[in-house]
Amino acid sequence: MVVQYKCPSCGADMAFDSTIGKLHCESCGTNMNIEEMSGDKNARDHKHTHQESASYKEAFDHGAEVHEYHCNNCGAVLITDQDTTATTCSFCGAGVVLSDRLSGSFAPSLVIPFAINKEEAQAAFKKWCKKGLLTPSGFMTADRIKSITGIYVPFWLYDLNGIGTADATCTKVRTYTRGDYIYTETDYYRVYRKVNLNYLKVPTDASEKMNDKMMDKLEPYHYKDLKSFNMPYLAGYLAEKYNYDAGEMFPRVESRVQDYVDSYLRQTISGYSSTTYNNKDIRIHTQNAEYALFPVWMVCYDYKKSEHTFAMNGQTGKIVGKPPLSAAKIAGWFAGISAASFAIIKLIALLTGGPLL
Ligand SMILES: [Zn+2]
Ligand SMILES: [Zn+2]
Repeated sequence: MVVQYKCPSCGADMAFDSTIGKLHCESCGTNMNIEEMSGDKNARDHKHTHQESASYKEAFDHGAEVHEYHCNNCGAVLITDQDTTATTCSFCGAGVVLSDRLSGSFAPSLVIPFAINKEEAQAAFKKWCKKGLLTPSGFMTADRIKSITGIYVPFWLYDLNGIGTADATCTKVRTYTRGDYIYTETDYYRVYRKVNLNYLKVPTDASEKMNDKMMDKLEPYHYKDLKSFNMPYLAGYLAEKYNYDAGEMFPRVESRVQDYVDSYLRQTISGYSSTTYNNKDIRIHTQNAEYALFPVWMVCYDYKKSEHTFAMNGQTGKIVGKPPLSAAKIAGWFAGISAASFAIIKLIALLTGGPLL
């Protein structure tokens, strides 16, 4: 089913406006509060949401094709891949949400809406590129941003319990002198520790397309803006559904939290000269996992016939990715260094009255 958000005043398509955090109509300026639209805390139930909200109109596509979606405005086929849950019509630009892909086990429970709009993302990206010391000079001059796309990326947020036990042999070494002798005294301690730790909402991206490391680097997301999921947040953006369920993603979050528990455990053993672990055991259990969508700006940039991808946290503006390195600039950089060292040598030669280099 295709859901489009129509302006109650003028009938134009509305889209989520990250600046005001509301649905906004470009044509007449009408804004609508999304949290009020749900009329129900249980935003998972879309049908319920639709029935209760009389303040906006929606249109459904009842076409016979299961995998083909049509824009309600212009009838154009919406070009989507199987993971897309929200997109814009490439003909009329309307934001469309594919509600049947956001139902059942694919219904997100939480969302962090975009806080940075397209213009801000573009400006911040250009500024970030200019700061790059070794960015080729031509990199930012032409308008090479091939695409800049706001996308809601699926994440699992895990509530985890970690139990760590350690059995270690520790020493305290003391050295002192008495008469002609140096004494070394070693005391041995058997140390036991057990820690029971809870971690709330540890994020792991659940999309096949997204580079895991890149997504990890976009953290932190601030949970103060975490809201109950509601479809209008996706209007005007691209959104994806998860490829891996919470169970499949667990090994990734497990190894991450194992490291946290391990470092906590180590910190509890201090004040010794040495620590040798006889036994250490860390177990992580999932208490709860929630499906959430986090905002990411993806920037595709064309430079010297290759594509560079950058990502920006759509909530905080943090950018990850690597600007291309310029061979010419690197060469110039080293030339600069050797020129400087030459000048210094000359100066020293003059001061000492030695022969000029
Ligand atoms: Zn309007
Ligand atoms: Zn259209």
